[in-house]
Amino acid sequence: MEIHKDKKHKWPGLKPGITRKLSTLFLFFILIFYGTLVVLFLDVQQMMKTSEQIVGVNNRISELSTSMQESLLSMDVNDKKYRLLGKEMYRDYFESARTDFEAALKGIVGLDSPGYRLSKRWNGIQRNYVAHLKDARLELQGGAWAGEETLNGWIRDLAEARLENEKEIENALITINARSKESLKKGLLGLGLSVLMAVLGVVVVSRSMLTPLKALTRGVKILPGNKTAAMVETNARDEFGELAAAFNEMSRQLKEEEDLRSDFIASLSHEIRTPLSSIRESVNMIMEEVLGPVNQKQRKFLHIADSEIARISDLFDHLLHLSRLESRVQQVRFLAVDPNRLIRDAADILVPKAEKKEIRLNLHAMAEPPMVMGGEKEILQVLLNIIGNAIKFSYKGGTIDISTMADHGAVMFRIADNGPGIPEGEEALIFNKYYRSREIRNHMDGVGLGLNISRKIVEFHHGKIWMENHPDKGCSFYFTLPC
Ligand code: ADP
Repeated sequence: MEIHKDKKHKWPGLKPGITRKLSTLFLFFILIFYGTLVVLFLDVQQMMKTSEQIVGVNNRISELSTSMQESLLSMDVNDKKYRLLGKEMYRDYFESARTDFEAALKGIVGLDSPGYRLSKRWNGIQRNYVAHLKDARLELQGGAWAGEETLNGWIRDLAEARLENEKEIENALITINARSKESLKKGLLGLGLSVLMAVLGVVVVSRSMLTPLKALTRGVKILPGNKTAAMVETNARDEFGELAAAFNEMSRQLKEEEDLRSDFIASLSHEIRTPLSSIRESVNMIMEEVLGPVNQKQRKFLHIADSEIARISDLFDHLLHLSRLESRVQQVRFLAVDPNRLIRDAADILVPKAEKKEIRLNLHAMAEPPMVMGGEKEILQVLLNIIGNAIKFSYKGGTIDISTMADHGAVMFRIADNGPGIPEGEEALIFNKYYRSREIRNHMDGVGLGLNISRKIVEFHHGKIWMENHPDKGCSFYFTLPC
């Protein structure tokens, strides 16, 4: 046999996929998570900038408009003083207050920018200033530079413009509030998306891992005793795909080796059985004194030879039977068989063996049994194997109950003994090929094929076979056959 120890297989088209799937998922998750964080950060920054700008501009406007109002009043007072006292210095004060007014007005109008829309009213005030105030001159003899009413109109205009400004600020604050709500929504959406991504990721990755794993588990379960090589079908092109391909290769090789072994055993058994029969016949002829008288001592050794030959033929019979069952060469004639007759036949065959150990065989045949469909010889073989074991392993003077009963459209056979039972922990192994419990291995005959053959026959009939174990109190074997 050739053993490929470190042979590295190349599977064309297969790429490592689990790592890629996990990294893609992780990348998406990180992108959504950090994307949301960046959007929120930008939003908050924008809101802070806007509110800072609004507060700054608002303070500046109210400062400048107050200064404008004060300049207007100062201009009016100095006009009155000039006209009353005629001193030139009041004219200078008037001019200086006008310059202040002009500068403040310019300052306010200059605040208008793409980032901040100034109220239109300030443009009106500026137009008014150019039309009426810019060129106003103080006259000693003339009237006041501006009438009471005009002055009040100016002051009212300034107050209204300031109010309008405050209104705009209020609107801007409302916008900021709406924007913060929007940001909260975006944050929640991002969070929801991340959670969805994580859940989806878990589902996708676990599905892509679980499906091939389940297929592999199924393959591993049917591997022992399977007639054809157990193959795992998977479309996975990742590491699991590689594992499945490696498993299929291993399964194919195992099957090939198993077939080789079966063929070898079958031909060996066949080749050995014929000379064995001749030897047995010769021994019998000598024992029956056909060839001359045989003394007591010679007879004793001839008996030993006869039973050893019988044992070896038995072993080869089992091996041959098994290999025929496995390769399906065995032809089974399916007929309707009476289950009660089968247990009676099996008991009749085995009574002499049971009597030798003073074991009682109790038959519990069901009334009006339905016929089971199957090969009579094969089902009888199953019964002989199981009842034979019960007799073999039971203590002297034991009892064996053999029953038939109805079981959901099938007939159930039960063989219960009160022998030693199966050693604990070995129950799952008893139907395996060549299994023999460690306790009896050294002092009892057997090859560990009887139960394996029985299972193959029962499954061939689409039935089920199982065992209930009661260590030290015996065990019960069951099998069902369809009616
Ligand atoms: P064999 O009887 O040739 O050893 P089997 O396949 O019939 O092979 O049985 C396998 C093993 O199962 C036996 O060697 C024995 O250890 C165990 N076994 C089977 N039937 C019984 C039983 N009725 N009581 C106790 N052990 C049993």
